Amino acid sequence: METIAARLERIREQSKAAALAAQRDPLEVRLIAVSKGQSSAAVREAYAAGQRDFGENYVQELSKKAEELADCAALSWHMIGHLQRNKAKLVVRHAACVHSVDSVELALELDKRALTPLPILVEVSIAGESQKSGVLPAALGEVLSAIEAAPKLELRGLMCVPPLAGDAEGSRQFFSALRRLRDEHGGRARLPELSMGMTADFAVAIAEGATLIRVGTAIFGPRSARESEG
Ligand SMILES: *Cc1c(COP(=O)(O)O)cnc(C)c1O
Repeated sequence: METIAARLERIREQSKAAALAAQRDPLEVRLIAVSKGQSSAAVREAYAAGQRDFGENYVQELSKKAEELADCAALSWHMIGHLQRNKAKLVVRHAACVHSVDSVELALELDKRALTPLPILVEVSIAGESQKSGVLPAALGEVLSAIEAAPKLELRGLMCVPPLAGDAEGSRQFFSALRRLRDEHGGRARLPELSMGMTADFAVAIAEGATLIRVGTAIFGPRSARESEG
């Protein structure tokens, strides 16, 4: 079987090629290895191959791995899954960045609990009402202002998960919609990061301006079923 190191190398190459094809600097695109449903040993293997940013969807799983991998000093955890307010206190202990803020209430709770300045991205429901998580585009302005007014939060950008994840060309319209929304809300100066693109569609996301791509399956292979949050 192909090693995690070899898969990482291939994704880095594909990411670089996609950036160059879009006349972008490849260094603008950072790879987040999504390790949900994978073992700490697999994360350790990716870390040994030079990977530093990892994404998790569930707070309990993130905390458990963060404790098991505490010796990996340069490792950064990104919270990319839906976050409940009552988990804010736990997530701020380990997460270097939260991509999935989707309400003013959650932003205020993270601000209250944050121990150090916390980089934040706002998850946008880019396909509108049909999606269950994310801020509707019409409500985005209010959430961005609340984050900027929060002393412990650092507004970094926008994130989306397109509804047809898995179909690369089908995702393009949603990625470009997120980029246009960013431009309507202050552009790169205010929102430097666009977190978009997964295993099936990261090259398209890079072509549309992604700065953070979140790739799981292509690095680690299929996931085991999700453990209960308890
Ligand atoms: C699981 C997940 C990913 C990674 O998905 P793959 O298709 O395995 O690359 C990226 N982003 C979010 C929000 C996820 O939940």
